[in-house]
Amino acid sequence: MDIRAQAQRALMIKWEESLGSPAAITVTVDAIRPHLSRWVQRRHGVLTFRLTQVLTGHGCFGKYLHQIARREATPACHECGAPIDTARHTLEECAAWDPQRRALVAVIGGDLALSSVVRSMLGSARSWSAVASFCEERRRSARGCMADGKFSLYCDPLLCSPAEARVGLREACPGTGGVTSG
Ligand SMILES: [Zn+2]
Repeated sequence: MDIRAQAQRALMIKWEESLGSPAAITVTVDAIRPHLSRWVQRRHGVLTFRLTQVLTGHGCFGKYLHQIARREATPACHECGAPIDTARHTLEECAAWDPQRRALVAVIGGDLALSSVVRSMLGSARSWSAVASFCEERRRSARGCMADGKFSLYCDPLLCSPAEARVGLREACPGTGGVTSG
């Protein structure tokens, strides 16, 4: 296992440990369980940091940041004002993601329920890549990310992959005092 894989694994373990409720993980398990053998045996598809966040609902989503991480006063969506921001809200509902959603639907079809999305991802490398791209787009507008010019949460492992955090550390990030990472 390389260093990046080790870091991602450590992060996933940390997420599991920090979960206030197993309910969110249950959603992911339910989505993957019907496809488990295909998931394990697949020959394509890297599980990226952002993809994992969308599949688990943990990370840069209002509900998670409010209820579990206790970072935000409300679980609302910063993009459209919906009262509860979740991975499902991003995938299926949020108007702010209509253009990205159209591009995704053009590749994987219109059923964006998590289980259907997982089935599509396993069906072809192109579908996997389309879902991963959607998740990366989500990052670009995620709260606290560099694209917003807000650095307060940038070096937060809930919001940034280890590689992104290293970039954040090199920038003048108030969260770290701009310390250069090794
Ligand atoms: Zn929204």
